[in-house]
Amino acid sequence: MFNFAPCIISILAKISINIKDGSIKKADTIIGIDLGTTNSLVAVINTTNQQPICLSENAENIVPSIIYFAPDGTIRVGAAAKAHLIMDPQHTIYSVKRLLGRSYTDIQSHANSYGYKIIEDETKAMVRVEMNGKFYNPIELSSYILKALKANAEKALNTSIKKAVITVPAYFNDSQRQATRDAGKLAGLDVLRIVNEPTAASLAYGIGLNKEEEKCIAVYDLGGGTFDITLLRIQQGVFEVLSTNGDTYTGGDDFDRVIVEQWCQSIGVLIGTIEKNKSLYQQLRLEAERVKKELSSKNFVDCELEIEGRKHYFKYTIKQFNLAIQAIIDKTIDCCKRALQDAGISLKEIDEVVMVGGSTRVPLVIECVKAFFQKENLHNELDPDEVVALGAAIEADILAGNRKDLLLLDVTPLSLGIETIGGLMDTIIPRNSKVPQKAGRQYTTSVDGQTNLKIAVYQGERELVNDNRKLGEFILNNIPAMPAGFPKIDIQFLLNADGILKVNATELRSNTMQEIAIKPQYGLTDQEVESMLLASFEHAESDMAARLLVESKTEAEQLIYQCNKLLNANATFLTESEVLETEQLLSQLRKAIAEDNRDAINMQTERLNEYTRPFAERLMDSAIGNALTGKKLDAL
Ligand code: AMP
Repeated sequence: MFNFAPCIISILAKISINIKDGSIKKADTIIGIDLGTTNSLVAVINTTNQQPICLSENAENIVPSIIYFAPDGTIRVGAAAKAHLIMDPQHTIYSVKRLLGRSYTDIQSHANSYGYKIIEDETKAMVRVEMNGKFYNPIELSSYILKALKANAEKALNTSIKKAVITVPAYFNDSQRQATRDAGKLAGLDVLRIVNEPTAASLAYGIGLNKEEEKCIAVYDLGGGTFDITLLRIQQGVFEVLSTNGDTYTGGDDFDRVIVEQWCQSIGVLIGTIEKNKSLYQQLRLEAERVKKELSSKNFVDCELEIEGRKHYFKYTIKQFNLAIQAIIDKTIDCCKRALQDAGISLKEIDEVVMVGGSTRVPLVIECVKAFFQKENLHNELDPDEVVALGAAIEADILAGNRKDLLLLDVTPLSLGIETIGGLMDTIIPRNSKVPQKAGRQYTTSVDGQTNLKIAVYQGERELVNDNRKLGEFILNNIPAMPAGFPKIDIQFLLNADGILKVNATELRSNTMQEIAIKPQYGLTDQEVESMLLASFEHAESDMAARLLVESKTEAEQLIYQCNKLLNANATFLTESEVLETEQLLSQLRKAIAEDNRDAINMQTERLNEYTRPFAERLMDSAIGNALTGKKLDAL
């Protein structure tokens, strides 16, 4: 009875089989990348035990997110670049993640804190950095780091790498996410997914891998320079960010700073004097970091400092350290309180706490987080520097189709919607929505006494359904005859984890119901999805103009229909001049429609509306009033 076109919700990874010889093409390796502010890491799934592992560069799996522009024109990344941070700060770029997707106006207040030159640009354009007379934007700079990570992975795995999953903070906005994606593209990577760092960290601990699980998770991420707290709700494998809070300028570097301050105080030298001597301050800061790290597993450290020609020997204890850093930790706990408030949940609702970032190794941090969240145990068994990359590798594995049960984490690649009057696409589930997804909307009829409705389902980003892909259509029969605008037709889309779309239409006044399932028969290739998206960008302007014209025409035609009805049924209630004037306005509106002139249509619609409004108020029944608003479906 229904004529379904094949459906195309394509999210499954595919295995290529050569039909000539039956050989199966080896699946591409997809790497997981933690592109961090200070350090970056790459991880993959170890095929022998299916566990994620970080890949290393010269036995070091952490790659400092630092780029050095050498005088000979070469660009160095990672440990080789870090060495130049103190000697040649003007040519050494760090913290580029803070600049990604941001304009100069966004970062203005901190622009001076970078050792390199950020171009002052009053516009809203993305910031640029000047290096040896050349300008670089943060996308290009990040792409150097990604290229280095890609090369490391290729060397370690002895295969070429083309696909990746990259993590970003949960609070990253669209332009920061897009910038990250573009950086990946520039590095020669097809970025299959941008994943939130807290989601990746939870995945690394296996949280969310069980479909039945429903949990609230707090991810406490204290790195070198930033602090983030993210509250997540995990339901049926979907990670929902409930709230984020944090401080982009609080982290382990502050611990080092307060240690130096404490030392100066106890030795009796002014911190201000030390800070003026940049190289001495750096030396002390590095020593403080070393001591801090040791205090994560010891109760005291023997220190030896040389300040202004004098040697100082002393024992630095965990007690002194805790005293110095308590106020910084308290600040992070305040952020946690605010995150709970914003999420509208209580402490008791948090089921698990995941610790991320090098500074979560500090015993007092662990103690305070446990106390605040009232937990005896936290998730800190994995290396807190690796946990995000490890989770990214798991996400990559899911996308590779190796964990079929976990397709739940996916999103729809293209929007799903129905055709409304005038051939317009009305999106019900927007692209990139999480799967499974349920969404719906109410519609009404455009013609009196309409008893059948055609519901046509489409996929795509274009404004007119003709430019999108038809997935199927069905008919809602047996609607009791009612005036136009009276029926309330509720259309619900349910996209399940396997990519099957169920469409349900119910006329609510009469409870007439019809449901269909549109099963995927074949998928769209990545190229097809890409070209559909590209076409939507290319045609965005003309599409929008076409949509606006159709909308204006539809509204005008509805008004003509209602006015004719009004004149036929109620002419005796109107004066002769009122009828004449209405007819004149009607014919002007018809002329504007015939000419496809949107401005004229809008103007004439407005005039006719204005003129007939008092009649409507006097005479029209509520059905006509209803019909003048809301979206209409074509009559069968
Ligand atoms: P991240 O930004 O996550 O790489 O974190 C880097 C921060 O973690 C720096 O401030 C490091 O000094 C700090 N860190 C690394 N290892 C330790 C450790 N064992 N104990 C305390 N802090 C550490």
